[in-house]
Amino acid sequence: MVEEKICSVEGCGRGAVREISYLDAKVLEEKAGLKLKVYHAHPPRRPGVVYLCEEHYKLWKKLSREERKIRELSMKG
Ligand SMILES: [Zn+2]
Repeated sequence: MVEEKICSVEGCGRGAVREISYLDAKVLEEKAGLKLKVYHAHPPRRPGVVYLCEEHYKLWKKLSREERKIRELSMKG
């Protein structure tokens, strides 16, 4: 049986559809100013994971796409 996961964004409370690494999810804190609850974190070796509902996953995809573009651009320069 799959454990019921709740979105890690503070104040959200919807059911989660995705699990992503906190390293990747950090963009939500940095760009969108959201607070994330991190699971299974054992610093410094394991950054942990966060769970996202469909809404926040979409937002994350959008933000991380922009982030990647910026990174690619700065690498080319
Ligand atoms: Zn959410």
